Amino acid sequence: MANTFDFIGAVNQYFDDAAKHCNIEDGILHQIKLCNSVYSMQFPVKTKDGVHVIEAYRAQHSHHRMPTKGGIRYSEHVNQDEVVALASLMTYKCALVDVPFGGAKGGIKINPKNYSEEVLERITRRYTFELAKKNFIGPGIDVPAPDMGTGAREMSWIMDTYVSFNPGENSIACVTGKPVEQGGVRGRTEATGRGVYYGLKEVCSYEEDMTRVGLTKGLAGKSVIVQGFGNVGYYAAEIMHDNGAKIIGVAEYEGAIYNANGLDPRDVFNHRSNSGSILNYHNSEQEFENSLECLEQPCDILVPAAIEGVITEDNAARIQAKIIGEAANGPVNPGGAKILLDAGKIIVPDMYLNAGGVTVSYFEWLKNLSHVRFGRMNKRFNQNSFEKIIRVVENFSGKSLTEQEKQVITHGGDEVDIVNSGLEETMIDAYNQIRTKKELIGVRDLRTAAFAVSIDKIGGAYKSLGVFP
Ligand code: NAD
Repeated sequence: MANTFDFIGAVNQYFDDAAKHCNIEDGILHQIKLCNSVYSMQFPVKTKDGVHVIEAYRAQHSHHRMPTKGGIRYSEHVNQDEVVALASLMTYKCALVDVPFGGAKGGIKINPKNYSEEVLERITRRYTFELAKKNFIGPGIDVPAPDMGTGAREMSWIMDTYVSFNPGENSIACVTGKPVEQGGVRGRTEATGRGVYYGLKEVCSYEEDMTRVGLTKGLAGKSVIVQGFGNVGYYAAEIMHDNGAKIIGVAEYEGAIYNANGLDPRDVFNHRSNSGSILNYHNSEQEFENSLECLEQPCDILVPAAIEGVITEDNAARIQAKIIGEAANGPVNPGGAKILLDAGKIIVPDMYLNAGGVTVSYFEWLKNLSHVRFGRMNKRFNQNSFEKIIRVVENFSGKSLTEQEKQVITHGGDEVDIVNSGLEETMIDAYNQIRTKKELIGVRDLRTAAFAVSIDKIGGAYKSLGVFP
């Protein structure tokens, strides 16, 4: 499925639709749209059954802001067009959420499940070495992060390899999504899923928008189906569940489970980890061997959080959800989007909804460059100030708070509190920019408005860049 989907065609079509609403000259628009550089490579890796030739890519879509930034994906569907499409989405995503990076993306064409940890480490280190050799990685050049099939473990291998060739005080900022004990930031692992929660909460907070699609205001109580129970999908489900939404369906590679009364994401996760499959879950009302069928079940919000191109002309008319929250990159193709929009549904676009990952990666990069943990300088000062205020209020009122009440009020921000609040602010602010733009240019689609916001910002940046004579 991922191979036949014209991902870059879709991204460029969305760009062109939005560019009509931007007052930017054609030459600059052309420059913004094109991919600046792509490094395509092959390298040999020794495995127990002989040498495997590995195909891999890194695309840097836009250098209008440096460094470039974007995840690294390990999947057997990886190809150059997909990496370029994902890199261009990163450019628009970063601009939208005011993260001062250009977009990039990397991919290694492997199924990580087919390799031992030892060989995966060898592949990752060799890939990093190739990037370093061509100056495609560095704290001020290009900063990878996790994506499908990769996580903190791979990021720590990348960091270690880069740092051994480029020792220096800022070297660990060459990659984000690292384990906390190796320079990562608290809250990064779940950041994309948490951003999906903040984004959908904001979307559901506008009564008039909810009334238009036949829903009530607020995310709490809404029924949600999630496709893809990996990093993004799992944390999005867990955090939405903890905040009152009802997760009623989970679709994975091997099948899907559904229960209109709600599923407990942690329990489903444990079941899948222990049994190796999401199927045969003790609390499911209905199970689907064809996991795509689950996306068509009744629910308020559908969250595709797996791969691109899963909602198309073939199945869009059967989607019953009123809101489609694109947690994955490119899950809805343009034909599918038209059908959903014609049916009056809200599509919350990927470039906004999954921007939590790059936002918190930006915080990690800042932490690495400033060499100080968030909260270290001000936590205790804030706590002491709050305690003083409480003492004054208690003296004036003659009443006292319990120790527990005092702790809740006086708690100074730890790193994770500061990261989460920065993320929440980013998601609220970006959604308001999109919604305001949508009204201003009179379009029906949040995606067109989101692209228009980004194009305006990138076009503005180009005005101050020198165009060489
Ligand atoms: P992941 O590898 O952790 O999880 C993906 C999950 O989807 C896996 O559990 C996999 O089994 C499942 N899956 C794959 N194909 C499927 C199919 N056809 N049907 C159902 N399930 C399927 O990956 P992730 O990091 O969660 O990324 C998921 C999506 O989110 C991707 O589109 C990625 O580009 C995007 N994204 C990820 C991040 C991040 O921080 N990890 C940030 C922004 C966007």
